[in-house]
Amino acid sequence: KVHHRVVVIGGGAAGLGIAARVLHAGITDVAIVEPSDKHYYQPFWTFVGGGVVSREQSVKPMADLIPKGATWIRDAAAEFDPANNSLKTQGGKEISYDYLVVCPGLQIDWDKIPGVKEAVGKDGVCSNYSYDTVNTTWENIRNFKGGNAVFTFPPPPIKCAGAPQKIMYLAEDHFRKHGLRDKSRIIFYCATPTIFSVPKYAISLMEQVVKPRHIEVHFKHNLVELRPASKEAVFKNLDTGDTIVQPYDMIHVVPPMSAPDFLKKSPLGNEGGWVDVSKDTLQHVRYPNVFGIGDASSLPTSKTAAAIRAQSPVLAANLLSVMNGGQPVAKYDGYTSCPLITGYGKLILAEFDYDLKPQETFPFDQGKERYSMYLLKRYIIPAIYWKGLLKGYQWPHPGKA
Ligand code: FAD
Repeated sequence: KVHHRVVVIGGGAAGLGIAARVLHAGITDVAIVEPSDKHYYQPFWTFVGGGVVSREQSVKPMADLIPKGATWIRDAAAEFDPANNSLKTQGGKEISYDYLVVCPGLQIDWDKIPGVKEAVGKDGVCSNYSYDTVNTTWENIRNFKGGNAVFTFPPPPIKCAGAPQKIMYLAEDHFRKHGLRDKSRIIFYCATPTIFSVPKYAISLMEQVVKPRHIEVHFKHNLVELRPASKEAVFKNLDTGDTIVQPYDMIHVVPPMSAPDFLKKSPLGNEGGWVDVSKDTLQHVRYPNVFGIGDASSLPTSKTAAAIRAQSPVLAANLLSVMNGGQPVAKYDGYTSCPLITGYGKLILAEFDYDLKPQETFPFDQGKERYSMYLLKRYIIPAIYWKGLLKGYQWPHPGKA
């Protein structure tokens, strides 16, 4: 059995930065439990699927990113016993802690929709939602000869709610530029009732992108079955329960997502399995020495790395305060952002808070498609991610954190 003062579960966008921040504050005994030897910059996968960057540009060895001074426990957390400040790993290790930060990301449920798991990556079925399948998206877009290009969006919560439509806009732009647009239909089956949760950006997307580019949208429709042999997708109307059988030539599938199974059955999860934290302070609602952040948390905001950028300083401040015998006083306002790529060289930068109120960084209307914002997403935000977020440094954002 080993003991560490602070144990962080997950070396993803959230965990690495939190560990670095705690080390910066002079706490020396910090461990990160992380099974993977690679770290993925998932926001790049939209660009990989669109043929803008290579898949290799999204990955770095975990060993190069674990902050200096942290102990890397290369194993997966399996069971939590927060009443005794201890946990077990899949490899059978027992780890105890004074303080715990839980951020293992979310789980992709490929097997929840019949036909998807076997088909993804083959015969016109692709997905940006994993490193293994992301290259097949660009293969499909590049080799498309016309016909039905279908895109899906499952019931939330999912990570990066913009990603299912960003890849559709890139595909549409590519088909248009290659003289295929007249021969193709672009069809979006979206489980939500609107194209985006924030009214300002929903209007922008519908008026500037969806309508003028003749994208067909079916709201409140959910993929319930894939029939790869006949190249058909079955969607259920979430209002009436009726089903539609949609033939496809290519389909970009966004799988359903949920809290990781080991959290669902742990005392740390809420009824959905998400780490049950205060939406203001990120402290666990039942165990004051436990904190949660990122995709695995119950925070009722859109699950993005950009949100973690605003959550990180709040969590670090509150954790350090509690470690010093104080109260968690820093507050997170729900800030999140979604860089909505609307074509090659075009982007609407959505930024908003818990109240779905825009919280824009720039002094111009971010609801308009802009080349400058595309360059920001392509070049500046990745640098902020690798050099700022993962290293535990603060970067300006409009959130009040
Ligand atoms: P992750 O970064 O997923 O990391 C979780 C870590 O926990 C992983 O390293 C994993 O190996 C580890 N882990 C898993 N299980 C265990 C276990 N049992 N024990 C210990 N460790 C474990 N965000 C944006 O801000 N902007 C975007 O444009 C954007 N686009 C996206 C596009 C796509 C296609 C996808 C898939 C995501 C996108 N995101 C975007 C979302 C962003 O990548 C995530 O919100 C972010 O990575 C979440 O960080 P996290 O640390 O919570 O989880």
